Amino acid sequence: MNILVINCGSSSLKYQLIDSETEKVLAKGLCERIGIDGALTYQPAGGEKEKSSIPMPTHKEALQAVIDALTDAKKGVISSLAEIGAVGHRVVHGGEKFSASCLITDETIKAIEDCNELAPLHNPANLIGIRTCQKLMPGVPNVAVFDTAFHQTMPPVAYIYGLPYEYYEKYKIRKYGFHGTSHRYVSLRAAAMLGKKPEDLRVIVCHLGNGASVCAVNRGKSVDTSMGFTPLDGLVMGTRSGSIDPAIIDFIGKKENLDFDGVNEILNKKSGLLGISGLSSDGRDLAEAAEKGNERAQLALDIFRYRVACYIGAYAAAMNGVDAIAFTAGIGENSENMRTSVCSRLTYLGAYLDPQANEMHGQERVISTPDSKVKLLMIPTNEELAIARDTLAIVSGKEA
Ligand code: AMP
Repeated sequence: MNILVINCGSSSLKYQLIDSETEKVLAKGLCERIGIDGALTYQPAGGEKEKSSIPMPTHKEALQAVIDALTDAKKGVISSLAEIGAVGHRVVHGGEKFSASCLITDETIKAIEDCNELAPLHNPANLIGIRTCQKLMPGVPNVAVFDTAFHQTMPPVAYIYGLPYEYYEKYKIRKYGFHGTSHRYVSLRAAAMLGKKPEDLRVIVCHLGNGASVCAVNRGKSVDTSMGFTPLDGLVMGTRSGSIDPAIIDFIGKKENLDFDGVNEILNKKSGLLGISGLSSDGRDLAEAAEKGNERAQLALDIFRYRVACYIGAYAAAMNGVDAIAFTAGIGENSENMRTSVCSRLTYLGAYLDPQANEMHGQERVISTPDSKVKLLMIPTNEELAIARDTLAIVSGKEA
């Protein structure tokens, strides 16, 4: 069965068409600037990537452009819509309602809507993607795969904040965690690579991209993670501050004459690696600048790495030990300097990096020395494949 995987944002729509039997990507791409003008990027497997301007006043025209490209007589990879068996949607927030992926029905749409206030920028856009698919592909089942679902196994000691308890009861203010699809995929790959059952392993997954989070996976279950009520918490990220003393919010507001929205904007868009370096949010730019002696770029990278190492220590404590630590996402997969720096703080755990294995590029691999007590791994994440697998399982009547 071919599965269309969709990640819908307010002005963008990322897609991949995956053959669920071979797990090969048949075509992938992106619609951008929806509601502004519109551009489609399309790349069939083994073919050239092409970008074309197509008017996209709404997501409907964007999805139609994707369908037209996929079924195009020349560059298409399927002959008609009938060859798409199901659609898997990334949905950012499932609140406490969803602890697993699910088939989309009127009730699940309502339940996703109920989570809108927890992710006002993301969930409404994800719902637009779902409704557009229902309109343009009638009869094709849709499945929702939530960023938060994997973390619903966290115990209250990890997810309750030190706030009046009634705020949890009244407003559902608690830690939810994000990147769950990636943390689940990578922790399962880690078990497979080490020839162990997930139930026999304590893994710490470091998802280090533009957004970044660390997750403690104890015997297959998320027991703590660094993002919180929103994806702003935890590590220093590309443009997000990560954890700060909450009193700073009021202090900045007064000093800079900003309201809450203004401070929120600073914390989400102008902080993190960008804010510290004053240069860029991009790990590669900073590595290059640091190499040339830019001290603030070096400081930004040092802080990022320091916090990753501190979270690993915290999560080893959360699980009373750790068997494997996996690095994934843009920085985690590609920056050997970051891995070297983080792992230099992990020898107390009995985790020893093998410099040669660390410097190799490409495939997933063990990057610790043979005698390292804790295994270190580099595992490219694949959220689209994880979404396609869940979608197949659900439309085939199995549990995801
Ligand atoms: P992601 O959000 O997973 O796509 O990751 C994007 C981040 O990974 C960006 O900050 C990139 O600069 C960073 N990145 C990709 N390749 C490298 C690399 N070789 N060294 C450092 N950072 C990298």
